[in-house]
Amino acid sequence: MIRVSGIKLTLDQDESDIKKGLLAKLKIKEKDLIEYNIFKRSVDARKKDMIYFVYTVDALVVNENKILNKFAGDKDVTLTPNLKYEYVKPGAVSLKNRPVIIGTGPAGLFAGLILATMGYRPLLLERGADVDRRTEAVKTFWTTGKLDTECNVQFGEGGAGTFSDGKLTTLIRDLRCRKVLEEMVAAGAPPEILYSHKPHVGTDILRDVVKNIRQRIISLGGEVCFNAKVTDLLVEQGAVAGVVVNDQAKIDTEAVILAIGHSARDTFAMLYNKGVKMSPKAFSIGVRIEHPQELIDRVQYKQFARHPKLGPAEYKLSYHSPNGRSAYTFCMCPGGVVVAAASEAGGVVTNGMSEHARNAKNANSALLVGVTPDDFGSDHPLAGVEFQRQWERMAFELAGSNYNAPAQLVGDFLQDRPSRVIGQVEPSYRKAVTLAELKHCLPHYVVETLKEAILDFDKKLKGFALPDAVLTGVETRSSSPIRIERNEKRESNITGFYPAGEGAGYAGGIVSAAVDGIRVAEAVAAKFKPLGDGI
Ligand code: FAD
Repeated sequence: MIRVSGIKLTLDQDESDIKKGLLAKLKIKEKDLIEYNIFKRSVDARKKDMIYFVYTVDALVVNENKILNKFAGDKDVTLTPNLKYEYVKPGAVSLKNRPVIIGTGPAGLFAGLILATMGYRPLLLERGADVDRRTEAVKTFWTTGKLDTECNVQFGEGGAGTFSDGKLTTLIRDLRCRKVLEEMVAAGAPPEILYSHKPHVGTDILRDVVKNIRQRIISLGGEVCFNAKVTDLLVEQGAVAGVVVNDQAKIDTEAVILAIGHSARDTFAMLYNKGVKMSPKAFSIGVRIEHPQELIDRVQYKQFARHPKLGPAEYKLSYHSPNGRSAYTFCMCPGGVVVAAASEAGGVVTNGMSEHARNAKNANSALLVGVTPDDFGSDHPLAGVEFQRQWERMAFELAGSNYNAPAQLVGDFLQDRPSRVIGQVEPSYRKAVTLAELKHCLPHYVVETLKEAILDFDKKLKGFALPDAVLTGVETRSSSPIRIERNEKRESNITGFYPAGEGAGYAGGIVSAAVDGIRVAEAVAAKFKPLGDGI
């Protein structure tokens, strides 16, 4: 097939007009176009008076070579690359037991899917509940403040992304990304994620996708156990010998994939005590900022705001302070809500979520400042965890020690005074916010950098510093505070122990965590022989 880029359609045009653009670009007649499909669609909103959809299309044509020769040197007309995922060749080492995967976030699920497909019959152990029970536990926390420390926004089937915006954008360039998206579509995600420049699923659909992937793993010979926390790692002569679940059941295995995310602090501590090599890692902390979505739409899309084909507008901003720190917006959720994302008693953590329709009143985004191990006050590998905990606890106490989150209006934050009343932006955080001064639960350098950044962002996106916009704190779990070492075969210093995903420091976001899960599954498969029939 031939890949043709740069086909532009105005908002008034229909997708059927792609064909016209394709024929015009390739200078061929309709009879010479056998079929075509959309590979990518992005929005070009650089000129606010004319917004375009820009398509990349794969076309099957009569006389492909002739056309490719005719357009040789034109970067908009190329041969379609083969993106088919290739399974690795299985290794020769015999397994006595099933490989164990700890965690069913994107990394664990995709590692499980690959190994199950290849006939390894993996056993997936998840500390939290299945997605339906988990949804109940999360709702209870959001409405009553009763936190289940084993089953919450961080822990349970689907991992940290289940209650999210389900944004599937990623900065990594890896062919496995396509495999992830294809598997998600096969599990019920909207097909447009395959070609949308900014694919997104929404928490409502994501919950079913996660369930369907679990069922697929089981149908392929895998097993998934919920409420099964790995509490110990058994090591014999420098190699994995097994794991202990819930301080009771011993499971023998020679291969363990660790896909526990960035919030399993007790598991990090257990692994550290077992001699797993790890080091502290930079991450970011800050707040969530909420604006009216309508304001963001107006600024980004001008007269096209609310156009049904565009959906709610997004933004992505960054700022470098003369003080050497950087601030940036992260994980922006158009038409979403701010969520209570704590997993540890006595701490407040915020994050963002939206449904597929992205039709809530507010836009929210993390507003973060980078911190490094130099800020942690100790060079202990787990010092970053302690650093996060410190600010989460201060936020908890500041807001009344009841899982309310402390909040402040942007105008008051910039003027360094406490907020007294909510203005035109109704905070979406549940269970509730308590108006406070956020400087009491953030490092001073974060507060100062955020103030500078808000004013700078207001120049780039007029209205960003809206005095009534709401800041809700604290956002501390933007990425992992540690990195677990692994070698080129993706094994840690303990043979047969494979750290994967975000918690181990090898991913950031749903797709990159899933891709890393696949990479690590490939490493396991390249070493060991399958236990049964696979592909
Ligand atoms: P996780 O998803 O964290 O999964 C780890 C799993 O391991 C958890 O289910 C946990 O319960 C389990 N576990 C931990 N310890 C143990 C143990 N000892 N025994 C057994 N099981 C254990 N990313 C995006 O790309 N787009 C978004 O829109 C987005 N929105 C987000 C919104 C929210 C509210 C949150 C919290 C995160 C969001 N993220 C988003 C980030 C994304 O969810 C993570 O990057 C991703 O889930 C990391 O995947 P993972 O598999 O490495 O770890």
